[in-house]
Amino acid sequence: MSVLEIRDVTKAFGATKAVDSFNLTVGDGELVCLLGPSGSGKSTLLRMIGGFETPTSGHVAIDGEDVTRVPPEKRPTGMVFQSHALWTHMNVFKNLAFGLKLRRLPEAEIKRRVEAVLELVGLAGYGHRATNQLSGGQQQRVALARSLVLEPKILLLDEPFASLDQHLRERLREEVRDIQQRLKITTLFVTHGQDEALALADRIVVMRDGRTEQAAAPDVVYREPATPFVAGFIGTMN
Ligand code: ADP
Ligand code: MG
Repeated sequence: MSVLEIRDVTKAFGATKAVDSFNLTVGDGELVCLLGPSGSGKSTLLRMIGGFETPTSGHVAIDGEDVTRVPPEKRPTGMVFQSHALWTHMNVFKNLAFGLKLRRLPEAEIKRRVEAVLELVGLAGYGHRATNQLSGGQQQRVALARSLVLEPKILLLDEPFASLDQHLRERLREEVRDIQQRLKITTLFVTHGQDEALALADRIVVMRDGRTEQAAAPDVVYREPATPFVAGFIGTMN
C-alpha cells in the first residue's frame, strides 16, 4: 500500500523551478533516499512533504488524503533538518516532551513515550541533560528522537548527519537503518552522499534540476545507471 503520493508537483521560486513536475509513490515502510547534487531540489521536495513549503502546482497525498495545503503540525510527518535546532534552554526530556504537551497528552503517557524513544536512540537516562552539553552525534540523536516521539507516519531526514565527521556519520546511518526497520517507518532520507544512499536505501531517487533522473534499487542504480549523469554522479563511469 502506498503511504505517500507526490503527483506532478512543481515549486517555482521566481524563474527557478526548484522542483519540476515531480512524481513519486512511496510504499509503507519503505526507505527512499533522495540523492542529487546541491541545488537539485531535494530539500524543497522534502519541505513540501513536511508542509514547510506549498507547491506552486500539483498534489501531495498521505494515506490517500490530500495534504497539499495542510500545515506541518497537522501532518503525520516528522522532519529532521541538517541543523538540528534543538531548544538549548530546555533539557533533553523537555525537548522531546514539548510537541506532546502541545497535543495535550497525559503526563504519564508523555513520560512513557519519551523514555521509550530515548532508549531507542541509545540515550536512555539522558533526559535531564542540557542539550548544549551533548556531543554533535548525541544532539542529532535527540533531534531524531524529537521527531520519532510524535509517532509520525513518515520520517523526513534532510542531510541529518552532514555536519558530523565520517566515522560518526557511518555509525548514525546504521542506527537510523536499524531504528527504521524496527519501527517499519516510511522514510525519506535526503543526502548528497552516494555511499550513504547506497548503504541505506530500499530505493534511490536521483534528482537533477528538480526532476527524477533515475529511480531504482541501489544495486540497479549502481550497476545500470540510466544516464551518463547518474553514472558520473554515482561514480561508476570509467
Ligand atoms: P538541494 O537541497 O538539492 O541542494 P534545494 O531544494 O535547496 O536543493 O534548492 C533547489 C533550487 O531552488 C536551488 O536553485 C535553490 O537556490 C532554489 N531555492 C530553494 N529554496 C529557495 C527559496 N526559498 N527562495 C529562492 N530559491 C530557492
Ligand atoms: Mg538541501
